[in-house]
Amino acid sequence: MDSTKRSRVEAWLQYGDDLGLAPYFLARSGPAVLSSGPSDQSTSMEMASPAKSIAAAAGTMPGAPNRMVGPSLPIISVAPGPTLFEAAERVVGETLEDIRADLGECTRCRLHKARTKIVFGVGNPKAELVFVGEGPGHDEDVQGEPFVGRAGKLLTQMIEAMSLRREDVYICNVVKCRPPENRLPDKDEIAVCSPFLLRQLTSIQPKVICCLGACSAQTLLATNQGISRFRGEWFDFRGSKLIATYHPAYLLRNPAAKSEVWKDLQKVMAVLGLQPKKR
Ligand code: URA
Repeated sequence: MDSTKRSRVEAWLQYGDDLGLAPYFLARSGPAVLSSGPSDQSTSMEMASPAKSIAAAAGTMPGAPNRMVGPSLPIISVAPGPTLFEAAERVVGETLEDIRADLGECTRCRLHKARTKIVFGVGNPKAELVFVGEGPGHDEDVQGEPFVGRAGKLLTQMIEAMSLRREDVYICNVVKCRPPENRLPDKDEIAVCSPFLLRQLTSIQPKVICCLGACSAQTLLATNQGISRFRGEWFDFRGSKLIATYHPAYLLRNPAAKSEVWKDLQKVMAVLGLQPKKR
């Protein structure tokens, strides 16, 4: 930086110091420094002063008064927590109706072009158990309700075998519009749509989330591992317990896998204190 520019930057930063705004320029990723007393405070102020660090880098700062100004605020770096965007997915007190209204007649991704109806989700807004599928198929697209086709009928049987009814649980998908030709949703489509799913889950706060198939499990767990690697294991997910099992559509093609899924559902039942339905 040439000396004129440097002097202007120094003067500007000194002005911030003089106004007592010292902490405003802290680097987001800086280390946490908490002042607990006068000696700490001077150390942290020293570290926090850009005018001083520029001066230190460039030699002494000519004519600068050697004084500490500004409130004795603790200097706290920004926590490595959720970004503002992530935090926005955790709006407390949002109802499913609020989220549905925000979704509107969505055109945020290309899936809107071929859809008939948005398939938002259905069931008990206070459900203890939420099933998350991949995305609507043909029947769901026509009816606007998740899991109403062949795979949906099997899911309903699974729910009833757990001694629950469809209306006791909540059922939704990662993407709310049907991917053409029942293809897998693309990454960008999932990226645009999944915040709505996260908001639904935050609103419901279920005890258990059961991911149906790889797409929902990989989306919520942010992994690209194959589902067979972690199927049937418990994970913590934002205050809920999460388990992944095979998708009912997979079971239609591979009925032998039903026993594995039943084992997973029995784990869910144990957590929810459910007894299998008497035949
Ligand atoms: N498959 C899904 O993943 N979701 C549905 O709603 C229907 C079929």
